[in-house]
Amino acid sequence: MGAQPAETSEGYSRVHRVAELIGIVTLLGSIAYGTYLVAVQATDWLRGGLVLLGVFIGYLLADFGSGIVHWLGDRYGSVDTPLVGPNFIRPFREHHVDPKGMTRHDFIETNGNNSLVTLPVIFACFWIFPLQAAWGLFGFCTIVSMAAWVFATNQFHKWSHEDDVPGWVLWLQRNHVILGVRHHDVHHTYPYETYYCITSGWLNEPLHRIRFWSRAEALVEAVTGVAAYRDDNDPSKS
Ligand SMILES: [Zn+2]
Ligand SMILES: [Zn+2]
Repeated sequence: MGAQPAETSEGYSRVHRVAELIGIVTLLGSIAYGTYLVAVQATDWLRGGLVLLGVFIGYLLADFGSGIVHWLGDRYGSVDTPLVGPNFIRPFREHHVDPKGMTRHDFIETNGNNSLVTLPVIFACFWIFPLQAAWGLFGFCTIVSMAAWVFATNQFHKWSHEDDVPGWVLWLQRNHVILGVRHHDVHHTYPYETYYCITSGWLNEPLHRIRFWSRAEALVEAVTGVAAYRDDNDPSKS
């Protein structure tokens, strides 16, 4: 089983691994093709500016989306919740008990699931947005950029937990281009209830300051009666 990583999560089958490999290759090919189509269409300063603005907004949306999904996985449901429990909630809960666990996953296991989630979004963009129109070019760049950065999120998160990363990754982390190590430590520190964004982390401080997460939890509890799950490391948890 030479293609298998040294350690895999429980229930990680060979079929799933092949699907993930196909997903990653198809996704990277689609992003490259999309980038080519956009480059051909960025024919003047205005259209070039729309491209850059779309890519930037897509990066922000990915960071916000990573925060929402991570927050839901950390705070609601359990590993036994039907459908989402084993595949979506379990990795977040395991990550808090063993933060270094994800660093033992190889590239395919780290990025495969996100490639399968984002592929349909990118395919849809090729159909929906007419790149000749300014709004279409902007919309395409925004949504494809968001999907591409969502795909990269697990890798950025994994790097933030690794002891040894390549020099260029360290540069990106230290210059706050991608999720930083000390920045993400805040999330893994008591009381474990903020800094959920794990793409760039740019939105963590603004969302923390407006108490976005605690207010969202109060709203969920008021509407549904469901209280947020407290971290397994929380010493106040009996
Ligand atoms: Zn978490
Ligand atoms: Zn983490």
